Amino acid sequence: MSAEKTPDSKMMEDLVSLCKRRGFVFPASEIYGGINGFWDYGPLGAQLKNNLRDAWWQDNVLMPPTGPDGDPVSVVGLDSAIIQNPKAWVASGHVGGFNDPMVDCRESKARYRADHLRVVKAVPREGEADAGRMFAFLEGDDAGFERALKKLGKYVKRDLGKGDTEILSFEGLDTQVIPMIVGPEATEPGSLTEPRMFNLMFHSYAGAVQDEDSKVYLRPETAQGIFLNYKNVLDTSRVRVPFGIAQVGKSFRNEVTPRNFIFRSREFEQMELEWFCHPSEARQWFEFWRDHRMNWWKSIGLAGDNLVLRQHDSDELSHYAKAGVGTADVEYRYPFTAPGFGELEGIAHRTDFDLAAHQQHSKAKLEYFDQERNERYLPHVIEPAAGLTRGVLAILCEAYTRDESRASPEIMKFHPRVAPIKAAVFPLVNKDGMPEVAQKLHAELRAKFGRLGMIETDPKQSIGKRYARMDEAGCPVCFTIDGETMTDQSVTARDRDTGAQERVSIEKVSDYVAQKLGV
Ligand code: ATP
Repeated sequence: MSAEKTPDSKMMEDLVSLCKRRGFVFPASEIYGGINGFWDYGPLGAQLKNNLRDAWWQDNVLMPPTGPDGDPVSVVGLDSAIIQNPKAWVASGHVGGFNDPMVDCRESKARYRADHLRVVKAVPREGEADAGRMFAFLEGDDAGFERALKKLGKYVKRDLGKGDTEILSFEGLDTQVIPMIVGPEATEPGSLTEPRMFNLMFHSYAGAVQDEDSKVYLRPETAQGIFLNYKNVLDTSRVRVPFGIAQVGKSFRNEVTPRNFIFRSREFEQMELEWFCHPSEARQWFEFWRDHRMNWWKSIGLAGDNLVLRQHDSDELSHYAKAGVGTADVEYRYPFTAPGFGELEGIAHRTDFDLAAHQQHSKAKLEYFDQERNERYLPHVIEPAAGLTRGVLAILCEAYTRDESRASPEIMKFHPRVAPIKAAVFPLVNKDGMPEVAQKLHAELRAKFGRLGMIETDPKQSIGKRYARMDEAGCPVCFTIDGETMTDQSVTARDRDTGAQERVSIEKVSDYVAQKLGV
């Protein structure tokens, strides 16, 4: 049964297809049928991801924000190994506790996270016996919900409207009820298993012998590498509490249900900052980082209603955060979560949980002697933990625009700072001296702006098609060398967002680009 596509699911489909067609994101190992939860970033995607990563690094490490006292805060960078001593993951709690509840479907062989499954149940009308059967669907999947509703309607033999159904969380259900549920991709009830705990860490073996002693883990977060090096950084640089250590890199989680394009993948990248401060200042720094991080996402183009800051309720706090001053998420309204939101970055007060655990397990002394306060203590940590690849997805979703009045209606309206292509230069026709002028201008722009992103040139196809290609790639501005250029040294500058064109003197093109890019 095929359900009607909602505008949001249609948009997501169009975006995924544009990403593939234009070289932003490809399914990993595509020629072998792909591999669930893994993605490759093509030429445009790799550049977009690098630009987002560099913007984060520049604005948090190289040119960090100004703190509450008016001075820039102090943050240094780190690049730690993906594989660490496995004892580190015991201390951090990941070996014992990094689990998700998992449900298998015996019929379809699909696997779901129990906390993502919802069950729709018909509310019996007066005189009608409770029919009993329930239909499961994945939370946030509108098409799946519609499907479950239709199936349920057929089963109870009436058109179900709003108010005729109850939505239940699968996790909260009594195990005796599970045999009555039809799985999202199943035809008969009783195919779903009870939730079972599943450790999300990938493991391997280091060295020639494969036994329990040589077992190692791929990091599920970049944060622990920072805690392991906190003392090294203190001992080798001039940082003093309060200060931060930032790291960008790959993390791996054997997600039970990787889905929603690159939103939840098994290999992904994180941008994490651990901010070490005196326990008494934790609240002030939590609020500082929370607001700064929200504003940062706005500054790179997620400025509209699709971005919200959500403070966690106390019952959803993680073990370490319960004792802290709070946790907040920067959330984005992805097409597949709409009208709801999905996490983009979490800002948490981790207290001294990690340093205390590593101190206890390793026996290394991790306390800090604060000369100003004449006090020895374990610093508290405020952690802004963002997904780089999830950020790329939010930026792709926000940028995706359809303008049916244009011959080629898909436009990626990236903020110039993250746009993978910064400018393009075209000869109107591939003759009459135009290619040479275009080449020269291209070389000049590349020398000036090539460190920020790609500068393109392309002599082929009609000019309209070349503009359309650049709109799909999200290039903010194109310059065309035409007949007039040869007589008056001016070029056409064409704006991506409006399609408007204006004449610019060829000498002024560099300034024009600098202004457009805000550099
Ligand atoms: P979720 O609840 O979505 O599983 P989380 O709360 O476990 O995420 P954190 O451990 O706080 O996530 O990780 C920090 C950030 O890393 C998240 O905000 C998200 O942007 C990113 N992230 C986490 N898991 C994944 C994943 N499987 N794929 C892509 N990005 C991820």
